[in-house]
Amino acid sequence: MTELAGMTRDEIAGWMKEQGFPAFRGKQVFEWIHRGVDFDGMSNLPASMREELKKVSVAQGVSIRMNQTSRLDGTVKILYELRDGNCVEGVLMRYKYGVSLCISTQVGCRMGCRFCASTLEGRIRDLTAGEMLGEVLAANRFLIPEGRKVSHIVLMGSGEPLDNYTEVIRFLHLLREEGGITISLRNVSLSTCGIVPKMYDLAEENLPVTLCVSLHAPNDEIRKKTMPIAERWTISEILDACRNYIQKTGRRVIFEYALSEGVNAGEKDAEELAEILRGMQCHVNLIPLNEVRERNMKGVSEETVKRFMQVLEKRHISVTRRREMGDDIEGACGQLRRKIIGKGENLPCESST
Ligand code: SAH
Repeated sequence: MTELAGMTRDEIAGWMKEQGFPAFRGKQVFEWIHRGVDFDGMSNLPASMREELKKVSVAQGVSIRMNQTSRLDGTVKILYELRDGNCVEGVLMRYKYGVSLCISTQVGCRMGCRFCASTLEGRIRDLTAGEMLGEVLAANRFLIPEGRKVSHIVLMGSGEPLDNYTEVIRFLHLLREEGGITISLRNVSLSTCGIVPKMYDLAEENLPVTLCVSLHAPNDEIRKKTMPIAERWTISEILDACRNYIQKTGRRVIFEYALSEGVNAGEKDAEELAEILRGMQCHVNLIPLNEVRERNMKGVSEETVKRFMQVLEKRHISVTRRREMGDDIEGACGQLRRKIIGKGENLPCESST
């Protein structure tokens, strides 16, 4: 079965022609798919054509297996189901400026970060570009009653986007196809644990996405304790790749830093971080580590976050503490999926599809 959501307008037109349909129908099919409409709803297509299409293809193959809505801020945690039965997570966050969706790029992850739940069973498979788009299209359904749509995307769900480079780039191009979902790439952030050569490749793509780097440590010694990728590339190599990205794209880089007591959250660590980032066009996003049941790493107190932040501010490093959304639902990477898939437990949730 061909999945049409991963194709560009021209590709769908070409494919329709191969199937014996007029190419102009491809444009119509493309536009319907990007509006989240399945074959049955493609009202300007003859019914017989829709039936033929159903036999050989799927418009988009991502469905919502379940969801939890936060009572605190309306954040929705989504468990998506893919056509092969695999599940990935997403988080929909409503802001005044728009609606942001955090999407997954792989089922599982092979990066092995010691604080992260997504990587506990390794990588199962890469997502296709069509599946990534499907995550966005499926999430848009939650917003219909409000007359809103996903306007911002962060590639920060399960998976390492730069470990699934080709499909991620294809997905980014799909976002700005004429007549499609049209989400500005300036509203897209891509988060990596620091796969250096791919960071250079990304800088050459000429796509204005914001690059986020999961740094989580001020030096290699600390980084190696929690991130196996640190054995492969040093912080200094990562920062060089970031400087290149800034120079090529003119966009500042965001460093994510998950604070964990006794690991990387001391004032000395903050000073060292300020030192290595000095003069760089960047921003630091502090996240109190989200404690994961299977991991024995601790979070931090509010006081620790404040002190860490003050050190950075004093040294003129732009810094914010990540707003915690959906605190009452399973917030951290991969936790909801594990709860549902891993153990088959029932969730104490209010809503499901
Ligand atoms: N592989 C990419 C994107 C996925 S993870 C990356 O490493 O950036 C998205 C972010 O959540 C990363 O910054 C990751 O380090 C962080 N993260 C994972 N588990 C976490 C936890 N338990 N607490 C806080 N942040 C976590």
